Amino acid sequence: MRFRPLCLCASIFAAASEHCVVPSAPTIANSVTPLLRTQAPGFYRMALGDFVVTALSDGTVSLALDKVLNNITQAQIQTLITRNFQSLPVEVSINAFLIDTGTRVVLVDTGAGELFASRGGGGQLLANLRAAGYQPGQINDVLLTHVHADHSGGLVIDEKIVFPNAVVHVHQAELDHWSDAQAEANAPAYQQHSFPQGRASMAPYHISGKVAPFNGATELFPGIRTIEAPGHTPGHTFYSVESKGQRLVIWGDTVHFAPIQLADPSVTIQFDSDAERARTQRESALADAARQRYMVAAAHISFPGLGHIRHMGTEYEWVPVSYSAA
Ligand SMILES: [Zn+2]
Repeated sequence: MRFRPLCLCASIFAAASEHCVVPSAPTIANSVTPLLRTQAPGFYRMALGDFVVTALSDGTVSLALDKVLNNITQAQIQTLITRNFQSLPVEVSINAFLIDTGTRVVLVDTGAGELFASRGGGGQLLANLRAAGYQPGQINDVLLTHVHADHSGGLVIDEKIVFPNAVVHVHQAELDHWSDAQAEANAPAYQQHSFPQGRASMAPYHISGKVAPFNGATELFPGIRTIEAPGHTPGHTFYSVESKGQRLVIWGDTVHFAPIQLADPSVTIQFDSDAERARTQRESALADAARQRYMVAAAHISFPGLGHIRHMGTEYEWVPVSYSAA
């Protein structure tokens, strides 16, 4: 397999192609064998009380942050990226998380599926699910943080259900928003394609009666409950997972790029439906995680996207989970 150029914004925002910067394919000039140019399978497992949590990589996408961030200057973007030894465009992880409770297998988000394929990004979730020892038919429930392409696109392949035995749980406000013709008409051009994409990913599950919308904060299953976090999208939802006193909170798109948005949580992104609400929601989520010291699972923090938040001076910092081989 060779590396392919990736692009997030052309997939999320089809109309914003000027935001896409397709990087040149990386090369390993002195590699002994091209077979060694790939990574190990993208899953990482950890115990959470009696539950087993597995982070699943859907791959990465390239993101031209200098084109999509707001409330920040170009000089500030460059400073924070350089401080983190990166350069534009940045390579952003797409992570999903599987919770095996012993009686249910629950998948939170599904990656981009085929929706980023034309740009070579995402689409790795099923291979990594199988590598981690699970089959799509074993998933009892899919929990969506929201319906953007890189979170719900993996629900279908060729318009057909990928998880045949799963019920899809999603906030009612998400379903309402992405089927709202007026909201679609009023959305900026670079967000409009998300409406038909979202409807298409959900459609076969609707037809099969496999969509279970929820409202408010609710316990879906013992140890797994929803936390409303609107802003990035109207029905954006966190999932709190708790067993034997150990707690994990699974974020959706609270942080798109940690080196910038943890240094300055007021930085918003064009993907937000309501940027001001997304900003306040991010600020409260970071403060809560730092104060309560629970583990966080983040969709777009570098794989496996599991770690803790701490408050250092005027900034927040991400502390990745300490690697365990067991
Ligand atoms: Zn996302």
